[in-house]
Amino acid sequence: MQTDTDNAGLRPRALVVGGGISGLVAALELRRAGLDVTVLEADRRWGGCIGAHEVAGLRLDSGAESFATRTDAVRTLVDDIGLADDVVPPHPSGAWVLLPDGPVELPKTGVLGIPANPWDSEVRAALGFWGSLRASADRWLPAPEPHGTTSVADLVRTRMGRRVLDRLVAPVVGGVHSADPALLDADMVAPGLRRLMSEKGSLAAAVAAQRGAARGQKAGSAVAGIRGGLNRMVDALVARLRADGVRLILGQRVERLERASGTDGATLWRVGAVVPAEGSEEEALLGPEDTYEADLVVVALTGPAAVELLSDAVPALAGHEPVPGPQVKLVTLVLDCPPLDARPRGTGILVAPQVPGIEAKALTHATAKWEWLAEQAGPGTHVVRLSYGRAGDRIPGVAGNGRGPETDNELFDAAIRDASALLGVTLTAEEVLGWDVVRWQGALPFAAVGHRERVAAIRGLVGAQPGLAVVGGWAAGNGLAAVIPDARREAAALVRGLERGPVA
Ligand SMILES: Cc1cc2nc3c(=O)[nH]c(=O)nc-3n(C[C@H](O)[C@H](O)[C@H](O)COP(=O)(O)OP(=O)(O)OC[C@H]3O[C@@H](n4cnc5c(N)ncnc54)[C@H](O)[C@@H]3O)c2cc1C
Repeated sequence: MQTDTDNAGLRPRALVVGGGISGLVAALELRRAGLDVTVLEADRRWGGCIGAHEVAGLRLDSGAESFATRTDAVRTLVDDIGLADDVVPPHPSGAWVLLPDGPVELPKTGVLGIPANPWDSEVRAALGFWGSLRASADRWLPAPEPHGTTSVADLVRTRMGRRVLDRLVAPVVGGVHSADPALLDADMVAPGLRRLMSEKGSLAAAVAAQRGAARGQKAGSAVAGIRGGLNRMVDALVARLRADGVRLILGQRVERLERASGTDGATLWRVGAVVPAEGSEEEALLGPEDTYEADLVVVALTGPAAVELLSDAVPALAGHEPVPGPQVKLVTLVLDCPPLDARPRGTGILVAPQVPGIEAKALTHATAKWEWLAEQAGPGTHVVRLSYGRAGDRIPGVAGNGRGPETDNELFDAAIRDASALLGVTLTAEEVLGWDVVRWQGALPFAAVGHRERVAAIRGLVGAQPGLAVVGGWAAGNGLAAVIPDARREAAALVRGLERGPVA
């Protein structure tokens, strides 16, 4: 790569707004193409939904903690930034699901809980004979063309019946997407599955094909992690960007974006009102009246924030705002509890929404899932993470799951109660060596039915502007396996547009 600073003024300038994984990956791609790149991040740390916190002396992931291995997309980046030797599989014991009639092991060969084979012993245990029989009707139903939109619930209920939906899919979707499957767009949360279904003839065959496509993978290892935590990816990526000469600026909230014309008549983007975030210790590079000019801009925010920022430059976006994601609350407990050495619920347990008396929607037993963490914690010490909050509470006409615990203390009490019930141990505050609550407001994009069309419309309007792109989980689909390749593609497309010459 060319790093000659004498030439820096001659290179096209690119500005990335938002320093979550999508913005950082877009910056990497733009810099690789030789552009002069600056990333502006409102927060005082990089990574957005990928972060770290310290609880009882252990450094833990505070948001995302693993990545899907259904494609090589994340792995390629991880290798590229020097973490290849630190990629680790989770413990093969797999996860459980709590149903109203008790806990069962979650079948390991599914996608979003949809089974590849309704007669697998684990699937039969979860569904019962009649449930498996109904699910296998999927093989005889005609496979429709993937036209229009459908919710996850409609897709699963029609093909495999109510028991697959209630007992397998709803708990998984609730745990991963914090939402009811009736509200979620199947094409957003299981990209490619409907297309595969029409090719392969059934939903089960599509699931089997998707699982089989994952590289060198054993059942139960549809995801991988990084030794030391997924947050190391952000540190490595930021170090790479810095070494490559990208300007990385924290504590700068972008509040205005305008289209202007350069002296040669080419389009120029002007970013304004970039003021230090409240309490920021970073140097304020720009005052409220200053602007930053660039030939290309990548907006890497949440959907609602992106559309709001772009509303002046692209007025046609009015009315296209995506639905905000739910607030997710994560309670991490570090416990002194030797009985948990036996991994009573494998790597964790998902809770079916119809189970009474449990407020958490999922529990990850992090020390059972990741060997490196168990080694760090030592025998008898355990890290569990419980998640609270589902989509629906802010959508008119859709009931949420009640108010649920809100304050830190309410969440702590609920977590102790729920962890005891879910893991089959008796926990009190005495066993707690440390705890923390992390709130993610609207960070999980809400892929409501029709979301894909909305994203396509937004991208159509944004793409009609020269040198402008939007990236991020809300547009790509939730999860790093979707976000990373999408950010790469969008950044590469912007560069190609630039190569075609200036646009007036
Ligand atoms: C709790 C949780 C757990 C998850 N677990 C997993 C997992 O295990 N595996 C997985 O694959 N995915 C997981 N995900 C999803 C995954 O983390 C996200 O899809 C992905 O990180 C989204 O990245 P992003 O860059 O699109 O957005 P974000 O990470 O939200 O980044 C957006 C950034 O923009 C900044 N910003 C906002 N406004 C402005 C502004 N005006 N100016 C400048 N900067 C601004 C924000 O501070 C933020 O840093 C999880 C998500 C959450 C919330």
